[in-house]
Amino acid sequence: MPEKDPARVRTNYAVFPKGLDSRLIFAIYCRAFCDTEIDGVKIGRRNFVRGLKVEEGVDLRLKKSLSFCCVASLLVLAALSVYFYAKAARSVPVLNYHQVNDTEQNSMTITTEQFAAQMQYLHDAGYTPITIADMLAAWDDNAPLPKKPVIITFDDGYMDNYRHAFPILQQHNFKATIFVVTDYINTYPNYLTWDDAYAMQQSGLIEFESHTLSHQDLTKTKSEENIRWQLSGARQALAWHLKKDSRFLAYPGGVCDKRSMQLTEDIGYKAAFTVHYGLCDPQSSYRYALPRIPIFGSLTHTLFRFKVRLWFAPVIECLSDTQRILLANDLPFLAKLVPIP
Ligand SMILES: [Zn+2]
Repeated sequence: MPEKDPARVRTNYAVFPKGLDSRLIFAIYCRAFCDTEIDGVKIGRRNFVRGLKVEEGVDLRLKKSLSFCCVASLLVLAALSVYFYAKAARSVPVLNYHQVNDTEQNSMTITTEQFAAQMQYLHDAGYTPITIADMLAAWDDNAPLPKKPVIITFDDGYMDNYRHAFPILQQHNFKATIFVVTDYINTYPNYLTWDDAYAMQQSGLIEFESHTLSHQDLTKTKSEENIRWQLSGARQALAWHLKKDSRFLAYPGGVCDKRSMQLTEDIGYKAAFTVHYGLCDPQSSYRYALPRIPIFGSLTHTLFRFKVRLWFAPVIECLSDTQRILLANDLPFLAKLVPIP
């Protein structure tokens, strides 16, 4: 039997650490390109292709592997493109802002000029801001949506939303939702007053919804009674001051867990938002953990970054989910390597 040419023979194994829950996902990808070892069992690429026959190691011929890799990569790329395009077509981007002013320089604040540029871009690119109720009506009752819908939201209820953001929204006749911490209103100088909120509401452009009573992290609040009070108290305050039935919630800190989601539903909210990066998708988004596109978290807000986060939202959502899986599996070093613009 002739000896194998060592230059043409390669053995290539990808070994995944035990305990990594997502290893199977990676393995499916890697099995298409190289041999894989899971929990000590080596799975050959060619055997995977033939029908998952497992054996101890398989030699790969480099040339064949490369051509297979190219074809497989193109197919994966085409499939991903179709998936991302379909997802973007049926989804609604929900932008999430906090502060708009020219005095503070922190990751929650963008300048008035930058906010104006972003709104101008939405206008020029043909986006139509809709309300949260519009989106849910489309999901539940097949109500029509504009061609390029977008939802603009602000969290916390800062005074600059009225002074700086509202005039720009008015210029474009753009609708927006402000999630207010009701105990902060009329209390702290950098937050809205109820009069400001009422004036904005009267314009017909701005809706006010709940960001709870005092911004307690609901995932860390021990008492269920306390969570109920945070959720229902804010609804009562909005009903009292703005004569408004609050139906939507933004979780404080953008975080929720099973208990807080269930209580939010029990209290009577119809939907709730996190700050996890993503598009609101009628097929995959859970109504009490809706994702948004955060327009914060960076000191370098540029119009280009804004456009990238909007254009490539489905791709960035995947990257963000991967980062969260890595962090959940206690792999912060790998999580840092995931590029998120
Ligand atoms: Zn907040």
